[in-house]
Amino acid sequence: MNLNSPILVAGAGGFIGGWLVKDLLSRGFTDIRGVDKKPLHEWYQIHVGVENHVLDLSLLEKCQEAMRGRKIIYNLAADMGGMGFIENNKALCMLSVFINTHLLSCAIIEKVELFFFASSACIYNQSMQQNTENSGLREVDAYPADPEDGYGWEKLFSERMCRHFMEDFGLNVRIARFHNVYGPFGTWDGGREKAPAAICRKIAQAKINSETSIEVWGDGNQTRSFTYISDAIFGINALMKSDYYKPINIGSDRLISVNGLVDIVQTISGIKVDRTYNLLAPKGVRGRNSDNSLIKEKLGWAPDHDLVDGLKSTYDWIHTQILAGKESL
Ligand code: NAD
Repeated sequence: MNLNSPILVAGAGGFIGGWLVKDLLSRGFTDIRGVDKKPLHEWYQIHVGVENHVLDLSLLEKCQEAMRGRKIIYNLAADMGGMGFIENNKALCMLSVFINTHLLSCAIIEKVELFFFASSACIYNQSMQQNTENSGLREVDAYPADPEDGYGWEKLFSERMCRHFMEDFGLNVRIARFHNVYGPFGTWDGGREKAPAAICRKIAQAKINSETSIEVWGDGNQTRSFTYISDAIFGINALMKSDYYKPINIGSDRLISVNGLVDIVQTISGIKVDRTYNLLAPKGVRGRNSDNSLIKEKLGWAPDHDLVDGLKSTYDWIHTQILAGKESL
């Protein structure tokens, strides 16, 4: 990738897209086009020196417009959210298939040099995630296929589309399976937020309003691993620089329960709260973790940002947002 390569970041108004554009700029890339369907005032980050467009990439003609003249594509656009969103919006999640389908089709016409697709740990076979102790999902554990309904099926299908576009049309693809990426400048309320942001928000609100209890979804013993945004961005770059074209985990392998997350955020906040467990709330699989053997072998690196440090940055940012009276959109 030359510093003047024409780049498209699809989903630039979102959490990971906003940080990716910032990182590309800081590394000297000069020709970046950012596209998102949200109006500009709802983008989490807007960077000077970037050509920003509001376009719905699920429509072929908007994709053609967005892709014109682009050679390096990062597809981070998807209708997504935490469990509260994806369990209740399976059809909407699956409609994201139009975005990747149209982007891939246009990539052939535009003779794109490198195409990144943001997949997810939600593609993994659910039968391997029924216990809180999860030593890590290996990339091969995607099959036999039994992914998260809706969102996971769309991601798995889109991964395969990338693979077949590579095999049949020679498109150079890179596919990351992200595991729970968190950090500042992401969704923290409104129903699409994921567990780290939701817990930070609930505890920050309890502190600000002098409340003594928060609601936790499920029994709090369900486990996940959480990947700080700087690791996600580093991983994308490392993958793009590599010649590895198959799906690969970009995720922390530090397994922790939701209760464990609450413990950490409580300490950061300086208050202690009682927990009310909502057993009827969406919970997702019982335990999910990343196996990082492949990324260490192929990229010589794996996510390692300290969870407490990452949660502190996230908590501080969300606390500031609440104090400023802002709602993420
Ligand atoms: P996000 O919701 O903050 O960003 C996605 C962006 O895509 C949003 O700004 C949204 O407006 C935009 N978008 C949706 N539909 C669009 C359309 N039709 N046209 C144009 N833009 C559209 O999410 P994120 O956390 O930044 O995730 C980025 C990508 O990474 C997504 O593909 C997501 O599925 C994937 N991913 C994220 C995580 C995570 O933990 N954040 C985990 C696994 C996979």
